[in-house]
Amino acid sequence: MKALLIVDVQNDFCPGGALAVSHGDKIVPVINGLMDKFHVIVASKDWHPADSVHFKKWPVHCVQNTRGAEFHPLLRTTNIDQVFLKGTKNKDDGYSAFEATSDNLERVLKERKVDELYVSGLATDYCVRASALDAVKKGFRTYVVQDAVEAVNVHPDDGAHALEEMREAGVALIASSDIKTSSLVAPKTGNLI
Ligand SMILES: [Zn+2]
Repeated sequence: MKALLIVDVQNDFCPGGALAVSHGDKIVPVINGLMDKFHVIVASKDWHPADSVHFKKWPVHCVQNTRGAEFHPLLRTTNIDQVFLKGTKNKDDGYSAFEATSDNLERVLKERKVDELYVSGLATDYCVRASALDAVKKGFRTYVVQDAVEAVNVHPDDGAHALEEMREAGVALIASSDIKTSSLVAPKTGNLI
């Protein structure tokens, strides 16, 4: 069973946000288009308390229950089966979706018989990278959909380096057009079999 993971497609990481990824919003229609190809869709949210130590390294962003922490308004959130909150304590960065504290992503995916994880979202060089590397370590066949991710690029090549590091760790780098609709995937009705 394959699943789509949407990492941190939140207002603060999109243009106009507190920690904006340039063109971070351009992946939203790509991700929306991918959703029809998956039976299991999960998403993560950066969800920090206002006093997080994380803000010693980063501008204040994605504070719990603020507009900046909401999903981008054009993301088709009704298709998402479960949202995982990370970085929720004041002492953790929560880069990886597998560090979510609201529920255990690995356990939820394995209970759903997921063995292939397709990673999309923001940002390539931080939370996408950490999530994809963790997914490989946890035994998932892991793909990063290159036209469905964008990098912060604090240094200009950070995104490219992160993709190379993920590839070397066993992550397959693919394009959204490489993902075919599986004949085993029933149309999403809201009630999963
Ligand atoms: Zn954060």
